[in-house]
Amino acid sequence: MLRSNAEDTVRKSMAMFVDNEVIPQAKEIDASGEFPRGMFREMARMGVFGLRYPADQGGSGGNTTLFCISCEELARGLMSLAAITAMQSLMGTNFLFHFGTDELRETYFLPAMRGEKVACFCLTEPEAGSDLGNVSSRAEKTDEGYRLNGMKTWVTNGPVADFYTVLMQTDPKKKFRGLNFFFVPGDTPGFSRSKPFDLLGTRTTPISEIAFKDCLVPHHHMLGAEGRGLSNLLSILAEIRAMTAALAIGLQRAAMDDSIQYARERVQFGQTISHYQLIQAKVANMAVDLEASKLLTYKATHMIDEKKDALTDASMAKYFATEAACRASDHATRILGAYAYSMEYSAQRYYRDNRFLLYGGGSHEILQTNIAKWVGL
Ligand SMILES: Cc1cc2nc3c(=O)[nH]c(=O)nc-3n(C[C@H](O)[C@H](O)[C@H](O)COP(=O)(O)OP(=O)(O)OC[C@H]3O[C@@H](n4cnc5c(N)ncnc54)[C@H](O)[C@@H]3O)c2cc1C
Repeated sequence: MLRSNAEDTVRKSMAMFVDNEVIPQAKEIDASGEFPRGMFREMARMGVFGLRYPADQGGSGGNTTLFCISCEELARGLMSLAAITAMQSLMGTNFLFHFGTDELRETYFLPAMRGEKVACFCLTEPEAGSDLGNVSSRAEKTDEGYRLNGMKTWVTNGPVADFYTVLMQTDPKKKFRGLNFFFVPGDTPGFSRSKPFDLLGTRTTPISEIAFKDCLVPHHHMLGAEGRGLSNLLSILAEIRAMTAALAIGLQRAAMDDSIQYARERVQFGQTISHYQLIQAKVANMAVDLEASKLLTYKATHMIDEKKDALTDASMAKYFATEAACRASDHATRILGAYAYSMEYSAQRYYRDNRFLLYGGGSHEILQTNIAKWVGL
């Protein structure tokens, strides 16, 4: 696969940042469970949040491939930081950028690119996970604006966000065509959020429920033409899946690097465990999985950049790379033996964080169902 100079430059600068700044602090940041404000601002300073937006409109003028390379490198250092960055760069700001008024973009999008405001994206409800047709949060049109009522859950960055892009039902009779996105500032009367959830992995990416009780937003806070919410969501689904695949590649690389380093150092039965074929087989499987993940993922990102329909390719990439990340972190915990069970080593974090990749952009059961259909079943 051909690589551009821009890809090499972004990869090198992100890799240097991750090696020098993220990896040395990753254990401490993860253990704190706190939203990493300092790192968040640093991401903005480096232009990462704006990589998929044009430079003359507040972004830093890259493309999906460059954005995914950044996500991959960050995930190699700390999955939580990569998750926060992906939310800020893609799902949390995309609809505001494309459909917000100039005033909304000035007040929220530009500060988000500068790392001054935190964004998030709210689809899931207690009774609507994979089944988005079941979204029951209501936006009722009134003379003054839209009155919002309902609840969202599993909102990444929910506890700390300044604004929310929220999927609401405007007319239940229309089912999917009644689904629309709304822009909701966090200080809107009637809006509230729960305490952060206690999480298995990605522990510094805060998640909460949010609730709307007669929350009134102006008419122009509907993001996109009425009835187009679902199709606008589908228009970025390939990118969400490719980005998740890139995060999975970062995790695979981290698990493999740690495994190789440990296997070269750990002596048992008079020689390093790297001499044992059963250890070599695990590392070889990780390497093959990693290479296949890269080919699938960056094929999909290049298709997205060329404005081709990439949904099948991105779905395959997300499915394969995430399953491979689960296998890689499992292999790492075996190669490190008992030390993988200690919080001193990072292998336990990879093992916990791989679960995060399974759900975003569609569960694997949904992806398998889609892929089977798309190949003709
Ligand atoms: C760390 C994390 C961060 C998240 N961040 C966000 C966020 O920022 N915003 C947001 O809106 N949501 C977020 N989510 C929620 C995520 O999008 C949902 O978990 C996902 O949509 C799946 O919904 P569910 O968990 O309710 O599972 P369900 O849909 O209830 O599924 C449960 C199980 O049934 C399977 N299943 C469901 N339907 C089918 C079917 N038709 N065929 C076969 N199997 C099926 C699923 O694959 C799964 O195994 C997050 C979740 C996590 C864990």
